[in-house]
Amino acid sequence: MSTSEHQPAHASLVIVGSGPAGLTAAIYAARAMLQPVLITGYEPGGQLTTTTEVENFPGFAEGIIGTELMIRMRAQAERFGTRFIEAAVQSIDLRGQPKRVATDEGEITAGALIIASGATARYLGIPGEQELKGFGVSACATCDGFFFTDKEIAVVGGGDSALEEAVFLTRFARKVTIIHRRDALRGSKIMQARARGNPKIRFLWSTVVEEVLGDRRGGVSGLKVRNAATGETGVFPTEGLFLAVGHTPNTTLLQGQLELDPKGYIVTAAKSTRTSVPGVFAAGDVQDARYRQAITAAGSGCMAALDAQHWLEEQQG
Ligand code: NDP
Repeated sequence: MSTSEHQPAHASLVIVGSGPAGLTAAIYAARAMLQPVLITGYEPGGQLTTTTEVENFPGFAEGIIGTELMIRMRAQAERFGTRFIEAAVQSIDLRGQPKRVATDEGEITAGALIIASGATARYLGIPGEQELKGFGVSACATCDGFFFTDKEIAVVGGGDSALEEAVFLTRFARKVTIIHRRDALRGSKIMQARARGNPKIRFLWSTVVEEVLGDRRGGVSGLKVRNAATGETGVFPTEGLFLAVGHTPNTTLLQGQLELDPKGYIVTAAKSTRTSVPGVFAAGDVQDARYRQAITAAGSGCMAALDAQHWLEEQQG
């Protein structure tokens, strides 16, 4: 990615994050002549750059590679004058006005701030998992389910995401096994009933996955598993592994500065992107534990730009 020619010391609007939420906010803000500055973060393009083909983003009937979609969004934001800082954010100071954002490329102050720093899908941290990501291991059923048509796959987790993803995956897969580390599900009763009532879904209880087996050429072939109750180990044959063990919102730098929910997601006022701090707005997965889609993130990015624009206008009187 290209680097910006000159880093401004102050911008009327700074956007943190370069996924669909941040880039859509940038497109709208730039077109509103706010001359936004966008700090990309350590993973330019966000979570979509970790997936393969995106088939559910409206307007791309043939599908589009996640990275390509983000490149296009960025080009659109650049076209209207967004300035990009290719840097990771080191600290954010929301006390007082302007807000201050320190990056590894220097500090910038902001009249208004849009936080679109996203969330990170949790992984198990076991051998084989990262090596086979995109080769049979995925953390997004909506993104990758289609590639498992007529296969036998496993979903790890016991929350609503695991149950919902398992039910969704039965559209494609021949058989889906939910592997949960305990013998009781965390997910809601209605989702439990839906999963339990699905003839393609099986449960493997009290089971911990310790290793993903396979290689990039042949994909996933199985999982090394351990029974949490008996300690017994074995190999569970499967052709795919979906992780649904939760997401972590990227809000570490904001702790104690604005209202976060118990899981660390930014709390926004109803029907808006306003946070508990005036002039600070939040968009995308960093404030959305539920939908987590590129299109919903983009939509909230648009909302944040409009909210920030109105707020800045109000400040000018
Ligand atoms: P949750 O935190 O609710 O569930 C995570 C699951 O993963 C838990 O069952 C947990 O096990 C398991 N887990 C966590 N770490 C590990 C590990 N290292 N090894 C094995 N298993 C692990 O996250 P979700 O993403 O499921 O849901 C997040 C929020 O979003 C919830 O509030 C949920 O209700 C909501 N949601 C709502 C939906 C809907 O309404 N349609 C759809 C999806 C999500 P354990 O239970 O033992 O802790």
